[in-house]
Amino acid sequence: VIVKLARNARRATPAQPSIGETHAERLAQVRSELERRRLDGYLIFNRQDQFWLTGFTGEDGAVLVTARAVVLLTDGRFGLTAQLEAPWARAVLRKRRTPDVTAGVIRRQHLSRVGFDPAHLDVGTYAALQRALRPVRLLSASGVISAMRRCKTAGEVAAIRRAIAVAQEAFEAVRGELRVGLSEAEIAARLVYEMQTRGAEGPAFPPIVAAGATAALPHYTPGSRRLKRDEVLLLDWGARVDWYVSDLTRVVCLGTMPAQLKKAYAAVREAHDRAIAAVRPGVRAAAVDRVARDVIRRARFGERFNHSLGHGIGLNVHEAPRLSQVSKDVLELGMIITIEPGVYLPGVGGVRLEDDVIVTPGGCEVLSSLPL
Ligand code: ZN
Ligand code: ZN
Repeated sequence: VIVKLARNARRATPAQPSIGETHAERLAQVRSELERRRLDGYLIFNRQDQFWLTGFTGEDGAVLVTARAVVLLTDGRFGLTAQLEAPWARAVLRKRRTPDVTAGVIRRQHLSRVGFDPAHLDVGTYAALQRALRPVRLLSASGVISAMRRCKTAGEVAAIRRAIAVAQEAFEAVRGELRVGLSEAEIAARLVYEMQTRGAEGPAFPPIVAAGATAALPHYTPGSRRLKRDEVLLLDWGARVDWYVSDLTRVVCLGTMPAQLKKAYAAVREAHDRAIAAVRPGVRAAAVDRVARDVIRRARFGERFNHSLGHGIGLNVHEAPRLSQVSKDVLELGMIITIEPGVYLPGVGGVRLEDDVIVTPGGCEVLSSLPL
């Protein structure tokens, strides 16, 4: 009945809508990868992967890709969304979110080996789906789409540029209003407000605003602590525009920065600059991390740089590639990554400087432009 409803809805549209160029290309890419992995179907549960492949933005969904079909499983709330955003895909509006509906759709496609990304399917759903599908085999196939999302198309680069511009304008507006006595939570709220009034769908993530000693905690949640003179304020924020994100960090100080942090700032800045100079196609991500880590080690802050150098950004704030000591990734043309070395001094504060760069033929272009 559900499928019939979807078919009737399709009949109501006058002409069979055709898939746009971007999505057609991506679909061809996915299909050839499925062939390579000897899969005749692929289930996509991750919302960003679904958006990348189909343009569908609904919350509740799974996408099934086969050699001939793209089936969008969602529920009644997103039926119209599916029709508007991916009219070329076959929508199945399920009444309940059950593995049986998914299994039924797969059965009708006569598939035998269906892949999925284990990063996006919980063990309970997997077990239920596998039971319902027997004898069709449900096979773990990791990184199929996340690997394809690493290098950005011109359209994606443009969206990320807009997300950066909005985040930077918001920062400059907020920085102009910073004064002693404002709380971290107030500053975070202002950042979000300034981004949204400038066209962001929202923040890319809840901003980190850390005053004074709390800046020593790399992933701090802003609270009631108030901005004081001669203390650092660390802000890590980003905007989401057309689904793509930016991710930036700056450290400011009203008054004079504590001497130890001034030294740390100089080391972090040099690590940041040298790492950016080392970015180019073909270089190992771990080697770029090493460049930054060596600078910080030489400044005797080695133990205080306790996270990786950076990560890819796109539809997610953290996506492939990873820039860390243990990363096996190699940088490629069109990747957009963050470079964000940091030094954290317990009881004193912390410094992290984060910019977004795109890998270009000659090295990289720094997309963000706030002064350091
Ligand atoms: Zn960040
Ligand atoms: Zn980041």
